[in-house]
Amino acid sequence: MADCLFCSIAAGGIPSDVVLETNDVVAFNDINPAAPTHVLVIPKRHVASAAELGPEDAGILSSLFEAAARVGRDLEGGWRLVTNVGPDAGQSVFHLHFHVLGGRPLSWPPG
Ligand code: 5GP
Ligand code: ZN
Repeated sequence: MADCLFCSIAAGGIPSDVVLETNDVVAFNDINPAAPTHVLVIPKRHVASAAELGPEDAGILSSLFEAAARVGRDLEGGWRLVTNVGPDAGQSVFHLHFHVLGGRPLSWPPG
């Protein structure tokens, strides 16, 4: 999708620190990390948020979770998977992304 930051990152048009890539997803380090490990996992295909997902996205969802688990599996203390939807949740980039956070104790509930 034109004018989408994460579509551009997925296509390699904007550089990012990629940690994992498959046919349909890419994972890269967050530019403003909130934890020692803070990786964003995105589908290459544009989806605005988790609110837009439908039955046709089952394959993408499986790939996203699998990639997140691969990023998180070396984090011995555990890790958190977050996706923000809409303004109240603080979504700032309107291309679906999972945050994988770890490497320190994470408080709950989030702010
Ligand atoms: P959201 O607030 O939508 O849940 O998360 C968007 C995330 O994208 C934020 O954590 C922000 O730091 C990250 N981000 C924004 N722009 C860039 C960028 O150009 N490159 C990378 N690697 N991360 C970005
Ligand atoms: Zn996009």
